[in-house]
Amino acid sequence: MLVLTNARLFDGHTMLGGRHNVAVDGQTIAGIDRAIGAGDEVIDVDGMTLMPGLITGHFHPDFFRFIIEDGIEGRQQGKEMPPGVMMAIGVRNCGLLLENGFTGYLGASCTNDVDACLKIAIAEGIIKGPRLRACSPHINTTGDMNDARKWWQRHVTPGVDEFADGPDGLRKLVREHIRRGAETIKIFGSQGHAIPGRASRNMARDEIEMVVRTAHERNVIVRSHVCDREMIWENIELGVDILDHADEIDEACIEAMAKRGTAWVPSLFFLQQLIVCGFDEGSGYMQRIVDNIRKMLPIAQQADVKILMGDDYSGMLRGILGTDPLDHELGNYGREFANYGAIDGISAEDVLGWATRNPGTLLLDPPARTGVIAPGAKADLIVLDGDPLADLTIFTRPLEALKMVMLDGAMSIDRLPRQEKRTAA
Ligand SMILES: [Zn+2]
Repeated sequence: MLVLTNARLFDGHTMLGGRHNVAVDGQTIAGIDRAIGAGDEVIDVDGMTLMPGLITGHFHPDFFRFIIEDGIEGRQQGKEMPPGVMMAIGVRNCGLLLENGFTGYLGASCTNDVDACLKIAIAEGIIKGPRLRACSPHINTTGDMNDARKWWQRHVTPGVDEFADGPDGLRKLVREHIRRGAETIKIFGSQGHAIPGRASRNMARDEIEMVVRTAHERNVIVRSHVCDREMIWENIELGVDILDHADEIDEACIEAMAKRGTAWVPSLFFLQQLIVCGFDEGSGYMQRIVDNIRKMLPIAQQADVKILMGDDYSGMLRGILGTDPLDHELGNYGREFANYGAIDGISAEDVLGWATRNPGTLLLDPPARTGVIAPGAKADLIVLDGDPLADLTIFTRPLEALKMVMLDGAMSIDRLPRQEKRTAA
């Protein structure tokens, strides 16, 4: 058994007082504060913070050169490269997640089955990468907001967007993606979150109903890009598992989500960066959404809604900002933590739970567990030199602060004190 001793401990729920030991037996956590046995390997983490590995609830592994102006103009957005290139981007970004302290991601859509392929490559030991829940591409309907620009240029490269109509057509498409390894189906419930459309509705009620039923019958979850208030309500009612964005969320929606266990990824960082870039000038529309979400987050937290971290990292603002905070680069994912932690009524401990315990319940199908430090949970752990409760910006400095990343009980990054301190008792 491996025992990490003398740790300040965040267990996915709360920061426990004092110092603690965590024992790891193979791939799982054996317990907290168990007696150290003869032959155990002991690592003294010397008062550093031990916590579950971070899990992003919204990740596109293959976004790399997504140019926002091109999307608005209906041109190719850099998401239509050949499959091998998209996979190479995915391999790169998986490595980056580990280096940032992320041991897991929930896919939020990808091209060319990249999530499912990464999952195989990681399981086969071909590449290093986090634990992941594979997602489908965007599942859309003909002529919806993802199909409304320049029809004579519809992208034929496999991937970003796929289209079907009617419950039967969608059932077939959903089943096909489940066959190809998708463990999550991504639909576009409504327009919004800075993507305009002719109408708020993208998919008919009976179509959404069929997507959810078909996915759930195969033990697959559904996440929906949904922003309009009435569409949020309908998606909750129909049993969608994760709401992406939910710009116009209100207290009634929050109450319904708490009751049904619907998860929420506010992905505020994206809108904030668009505002910085001047995309909101004149209308103030995005600012109103940001204000609404900031107001609703503490209410949702109070109601015990499963809030998740994660955003649309893609490098899409590189051309405008030079250095894009939404680029897949070391330290960038950590910016969200401080950003959410600065909201009135949200504590640093809340934010840590959004990046560990909450997404952990969606990353693995029960009874398997991750995102918490508890007996029987997967040993996906990180060690930080510092106190994230005192300073959430610690996640923006992984090279300096991140001392260990353990995935499935195996060291992925080890910058802990030197070997001579590791004594067998
Ligand atoms: Zn997204």
